Amino acid sequence: MLHVGINGFGTIGKRVADAVRVQPDMTVAGVAKRSPNFEATIADDRGYDLYAADGREPFDEADLATAGTVHDLIETSDVVVDTTPSGVGAANAPLYAEHDTPAIFQGGEDADVADVSFNARANYEKAVGADTARVVSCNTTGLSRLLAPLRESYGVEKSRVTLVRRGADPGQTGRGPINDTLPDPVEIPSHHGPDVQTIFPDLDIDTMGMKVPTTQMHTHSVNVTLESEPTTEEVTALLADESRLFLIPETLGIDGAGKLKEYTRDAGRPRGDVWENCIWAESITVEGRDLYLFQAIHQEADVVPENIDAVRALSERTASAEKSIRRTDEALGVGR
Ligand code: NAD
Repeated sequence: MLHVGINGFGTIGKRVADAVRVQPDMTVAGVAKRSPNFEATIADDRGYDLYAADGREPFDEADLATAGTVHDLIETSDVVVDTTPSGVGAANAPLYAEHDTPAIFQGGEDADVADVSFNARANYEKAVGADTARVVSCNTTGLSRLLAPLRESYGVEKSRVTLVRRGADPGQTGRGPINDTLPDPVEIPSHHGPDVQTIFPDLDIDTMGMKVPTTQMHTHSVNVTLESEPTTEEVTALLADESRLFLIPETLGIDGAGKLKEYTRDAGRPRGDVWENCIWAESITVEGRDLYLFQAIHQEADVVPENIDAVRALSERTASAEKSIRRTDEALGVGR
């Protein structure tokens, strides 16, 4: 049984902890938090041992028991998943090295925080036995899952993606916009393309970003110039065969992220999470060598199964991407 510690119990951390909990080969060693807020009470309800990132006093005052400090958590863990806010992970990196504990960072960190930038479908093997890995951002994860099979089957000459991004996560009450559509970043290409190149260094990709007033999901408008000329039906069949790509059938009547989230809530998914890329099947169009499609990415959820696979890769328990992905997906319910 792998003991997995989670440092930072917010949007991503709490989901990773719950995903670890349902894996047959992993257990939650504990979670580190700075403050005894509502998420700390949820950790306590779930039975996760709480460790204090910044001193135990605030937890004592809130009558929440702590099992130790973040140092104790790192020492007791086989692998730590750092899910602290952007930049804090890099500051924490020396802690993990000091304790000689393999660590996984998130996409808010610069690529040089870790030995490998990670996406299970694209480069699992590179992280096997590494000391550190960075699970790339939600958007980069979504693009890597899509581009990996396209590159393998048809070759990719050039990718152009416009990312229409949610303004904030539901809990981020201080962010926006609340009534505007922003080119964000205004500079072209946006930082997303170079981030995808941390997974595929030889990929030719240009990206443009926008921010819109929704908290639901990101939407990508994708154009990929392939090196060969498959039919629309062949590309559809290729993508349908990928466990972390969900092709939304026209018959479901899902016109956007609102109904997608409603669908996963109705289906009983935890927090209504959508772990898969959601591609509108009827948008998949090939004209000559140009493929076009729309996909929606649930920013709070798609990196969660990737973190689980990264834990297996770093711990060297599972050398095969396919085996780890299958195990993660079965335990979590991805694709169901
Ligand atoms: P968040 O703010 O929701 O959660 C971070 C948690 O870490 C909070 O509970 C915060 O109190 C805690 N924290 C802050 N400093 C800490 C410290 N020193 N030690 C321990 N805990 C500390 O952030 P998030 O959205 O979960 O993002 C975490 C990482 O995941 C970032 O790198 C982010 O870029 C990345 N990411 C976020 C999303 C998303 O949409 N939310 C998607 C993919 C990747």
